[in-house]
Amino acid sequence: MHSIINNIQQKFEEKFQERPLIIRAPGRVNLIGEHTDYNDGFVLPAAINKAIYLGMSARQDDRIELVAVDLNESYTGSVNNIEQNNQHWTLYILGVVDQLQKAGLKVGGFNCIFSGDIPLGAGLSSSAALECGVAFGLNELFSLELDKVHMVKIAQCAENEFVGVQCGIMDQFASMMGKKNFVIQLDCRSLDYSYNPIEMEGVDIVLFDSCVSHSLASSEYNTRRQQCEQGVQLIRQKYPEVKTLRDATQEMLDELVKDQDPVVYRRCRYVVQENRRLLEGCEDLRRGDVASFGQKMFATHDGLSKNYEVSCPELDFLIDCVKGHPDVLGARMMGGGFGGCTINLVRKEAIPELIRSVSQKYEAAMGKTPKVYVAETEAGVSVVQQQETAAAD
Ligand code: ADP
Ligand code: MG
Repeated sequence: MHSIINNIQQKFEEKFQERPLIIRAPGRVNLIGEHTDYNDGFVLPAAINKAIYLGMSARQDDRIELVAVDLNESYTGSVNNIEQNNQHWTLYILGVVDQLQKAGLKVGGFNCIFSGDIPLGAGLSSSAALECGVAFGLNELFSLELDKVHMVKIAQCAENEFVGVQCGIMDQFASMMGKKNFVIQLDCRSLDYSYNPIEMEGVDIVLFDSCVSHSLASSEYNTRRQQCEQGVQLIRQKYPEVKTLRDATQEMLDELVKDQDPVVYRRCRYVVQENRRLLEGCEDLRRGDVASFGQKMFATHDGLSKNYEVSCPELDFLIDCVKGHPDVLGARMMGGGFGGCTINLVRKEAIPELIRSVSQKYEAAMGKTPKVYVAETEAGVSVVQQQETAAAD
């Protein structure tokens, strides 16, 4: 980690002859609460100890100078001319500038050299980390006086509008607002949030990346959203106060959806159960009962696989490999589905052997090696090092 910071610092001093402000912006996991966000439900993410580090400074002119160290690419532009271009990674940064400008805030020219250890596109939200890091850094450099939740919204809008990805707010929220040894209980309807301690003494988060790309994800995602909406419409015929599945109960589904449309019923039942599971899981965490929480993660996976039907053979295989293992407290697929990672809570001493055995089995069955990441909860976006105004010589 320190080598990443040192590297940024060195590159920054070589290129700009000054010492940068350095920001750390972490990735995130979501422990439980999947496909609940667009149903106005709850999610339970945490920021992790994998992050993007950004060295930044304000310029005297209107230029934007960006260097993506990990991609070995750079970009030069102007704050007076924020435009789409075909260097995809720049959109996450320029999108934030665009949103700040739309909010009527004055952003001057700036330099930004960044690099990190969040795997790109693995579902740990490297994109949200990049947006949040940029928003936080620009807020510092130009004394914009935005609070963190406002920056979260700006980062999300940047991804929605400038990158063109219709993500919810969880990823940016977790990256910005995370706390070490806590998960964030976020109400996606009101954006009310609270921190729940997670007693992870002797336990780490292990992510097995199925290395399956989510080719079905976006079309199936849209279908799931429609099915949830259909369920709500059926319920509203009798209970007009139900606005989204957040307001629905199992009894309402049994009464009004079950016989009408068995597929819509299964989809909606998963969502209603998942919201309840999350709230009960938070009770487990407050009691320090991670084992009971972990069992709920397995139940979530089951629901996602059998009722919501967004898993795939590779993800199911990765869960079957760890189910019943005495040192795996809980596991489930994480993210939209049809690929990506599983998230596992594993006793530390068992991790090396578990990685060996799961990788071997996965390779034998699927013909590819899973990538593996081990993570802990960590604080949200923060300043690693204030800028030293005196030029380094
Ligand atoms: P995820 O957010 O799950 O990691 P996304 O596809 O949403 O996956 O975002 C990944 C994109 O974010 C990358 O393709 C790249 O454009 C940008 N990105 C993330 N991290 C970096 C990095 N360290 N350097 C350059 N670009 C990055
Ligand atoms: Mg992303």
